[in-house]
Amino acid sequence: MSGLYDVAVIGGGVVGCSVLHELTSSGYRCVLLEKNSGLVSEASAGNSGMLHTGFDALEKTELSCIQYTQKNIWDVLHKTGIPYHKIGATMIGWNEEQKSKLQEIRQKSEVAGTKGTREISISTLYQMEPHVRHGAHGALWIPEETVVDPWLTAVTLAHQARRKNATILTDTVFEGCQYNGSHMTLNTNKGHLNTKCAVNSAGVYGDIVDIIAGCPNFRIKPRKGQYMMYSQKAHGLINSSILPVPTGKGKGIIVFKSVYDNVIVGPTAEETDIRSKPPIDDSVTKRLMTVADNVVPKLHENRVVRMYTGVRPATDIKDYQLHCDVKRKWITAGGIRSTGLSGCLGIAHMVLEMVREQLGIEASYSENRTLTRQNVVMETNGTAMIDGIHYEVTHPIALCKRERTPSLL
Ligand SMILES: Cc1cc2nc3c(=O)[nH]c(=O)nc-3n(C[C@H](O)[C@H](O)[C@H](O)COP(=O)(O)OP(=O)(O)OC[C@H]3O[C@@H](n4cnc5c(N)ncnc54)[C@H](O)[C@@H]3O)c2cc1C
Repeated sequence: MSGLYDVAVIGGGVVGCSVLHELTSSGYRCVLLEKNSGLVSEASAGNSGMLHTGFDALEKTELSCIQYTQKNIWDVLHKTGIPYHKIGATMIGWNEEQKSKLQEIRQKSEVAGTKGTREISISTLYQMEPHVRHGAHGALWIPEETVVDPWLTAVTLAHQARRKNATILTDTVFEGCQYNGSHMTLNTNKGHLNTKCAVNSAGVYGDIVDIIAGCPNFRIKPRKGQYMMYSQKAHGLINSSILPVPTGKGKGIIVFKSVYDNVIVGPTAEETDIRSKPPIDDSVTKRLMTVADNVVPKLHENRVVRMYTGVRPATDIKDYQLHCDVKRKWITAGGIRSTGLSGCLGIAHMVLEMVREQLGIEASYSENRTLTRQNVVMETNGTAMIDGIHYEVTHPIALCKRERTPSLL
């Protein structure tokens, strides 16, 4: 922890990993602090692994971050070798009221710049998805929706930054900070470090970390999501992600296939006081089973291999909370509720602009935007070796990869 860092990033979820990568690639000397033993251990370890196109994102910052990510993520995936599958999504209206909303969603999707979204006939729907329950009233095809390995995406960004000399400190808890007019000192459970500025990307703890720094911006209202994951043997039952028509409360419960072919039903959305890994709720499991049965009846013939939960860093405000306190040299990238994976590169780019333009901090090194192909080997004990470095595998989607191919991710 010696010397003066340009930027300290607090939190090693997908947002922090992406910020670390963007700033390091731009020549900043960065350190990332993560309180858990592994990166990607909280909200980012409990998501669906979908790269959304922004077809229903109306919030200004969220949409622009998703659009930026959509432009730039493919290069990262190709060059580093992260598995993804542009599987598309089929949104189904199960009654006339839901059907009537499909046109509006298609228009929103056009405004968002999502390519190819179109309404399809009922006969086309059942040609494309023969195992979906009959009785649909209307459907929308969103071809650009993609599933990705959500753990490997975030860890890759951190790993690529590490290869360019970023420092990653796990088991390191941010506990406080002081700004002395020239630089900041951050206090952690492992000692102090000095930095020119700090970025709060602490996810569901973002409001607490802001308060500790004396820069309160918002209040987190954790929202739990629960999933039910089927064996990969069920993979032939769907060909795309099957979405309900969204309500004001969110995207609703989806029946989708992970990039490793596990069919997954979820997530739900429940307010909770628990910020970390809430338990599985049996009544919610029953609800998920009902959805599975209502959407793809044959799913019940298959084995459920895992249940998991995640917590969204939701707030009262729908849009991302991106703030820069110039006086305190403090940037907050918080309240990244339900599209942090889909918007991660855009969020990181906005943070870079704040560091450069609002804080006026210059990079210590020259820019290095090289991305290198990684050698990823899944171990049997829940860890993976990436180019010879051990990482804890924390996301159920990545952990379930082993069911089919025991040795390689
Ligand atoms: C059920 C569910 C489904 C979702 N589905 C999708 C999806 O399909 N696609 C999509 O794009 N998004 C999805 N999301 C949203 C996405 O997962 C989040 O937006 C994203 O994970 C937020 O990332 P983050 O880095 O802000 O937070 P986190 O992943 O929570 O990371 C914050 C990190 O900060 C660390 N931290 C906290 N306090 C401290 C401290 N004091 N010191 C050091 N470290 C600290 C935490 O340990 C944590 O690792 C979903 C979310 C959920 C819960």
